[in-house]
Amino acid sequence: MLRRFCLVLAGGAVVLGADLMWAKPSSAADLELGLPIVCKLGEDCFVQNYVDIDPGNEVQTATCFRAGYDGHKGTDFRVLDTGETADVVASAPGIVRGVRDEMPDRLVVSEQDRQRVADKECGNGVVIAHAGGWETQYCHLRQGSVAVAGGDRVERGQKLGEVGFSGFAAFPHVHLSVRKDGKTVDPFLGSSDQAGPRLARCNEGTSEALSYDRPLWQGEIEPILADAEGTIIQSGFADGPVKSLDLEQGLVSQPDSRSAALVFFARLINLQEGDRVALKVDGPEGTLAESEGKPLDRQKAQWVSFAGRKLRSSAWPDGDYTGTVSLVRNGEIIRQKTSRFTIGG
Ligand SMILES: [Zn+2]
Repeated sequence: MLRRFCLVLAGGAVVLGADLMWAKPSSAADLELGLPIVCKLGEDCFVQNYVDIDPGNEVQTATCFRAGYDGHKGTDFRVLDTGETADVVASAPGIVRGVRDEMPDRLVVSEQDRQRVADKECGNGVVIAHAGGWETQYCHLRQGSVAVAGGDRVERGQKLGEVGFSGFAAFPHVHLSVRKDGKTVDPFLGSSDQAGPRLARCNEGTSEALSYDRPLWQGEIEPILADAEGTIIQSGFADGPVKSLDLEQGLVSQPDSRSAALVFFARLINLQEGDRVALKVDGPEGTLAESEGKPLDRQKAQWVSFAGRKLRSSAWPDGDYTGTVSLVRNGEIIRQKTSRFTIGG
């Protein structure tokens, strides 16, 4: 609760200072984690999946938003497409226990792909041993990017490699696993024995704010948790219908004055059942397309929506085009993003 309390005060009460902000009942044996990726969270990288805290066949995550998949043992920080990357860095000081660096970067899209990486799901990765029985593991690094070797002593923030999509990766990301004495720990909950109580709390469906009493993260956890409840990761314009896999590979082309179609698209992650994705596209001569979006029939880890129009004359009029995407939950807009695009002039 301390953290939530601090967040509320943070706007006006600078006088509180850092001591109170970060005071937490941590024991000396706790691991302190920095982010494993160098990027701007919420701008060019996003948290796609969190640790599954349900030991059975269901999925549950620390926020109770089920932003993960069954058996997921880490936190996934993604970049937008396979053309993008970012440095992967050590979250805490320690000694490198092992590395792998020779697996190709290939998106897993089929069952065959999945079998291809069986027993090597981590892909190219680094395992670091820390004091107190703690261990961190960094997965799916870009082939040939691993910058450390077994036995190396590394500092927090030291480069380990680059974000890639080797192993069991359907999108480019770094997966961070945290273990203590071999047991998975959700870094937001701080210890493996916190998973059970949090799961029970989620299953009760309580509407009270959740507390994070002993997260392992060094700084504020709110920005790292923000994507769990659903977010817009990208929006833009294309010259035709847009497919998720094309976006994953950065293969979408921008329209020009002669394009057969003009489309506004949006990519979202961690959507809930019942969510709607509303789109509106305006051009120099008025509204081109507008869609309320249908309520989703179930949760969606990733989702692409688009709206647009075919060319009805010889060219698209010169001028500014805007596309706005709204994520609507329970009748309220909880996220919104606008993209602009110019033809001619
Ligand atoms: Zn993962």
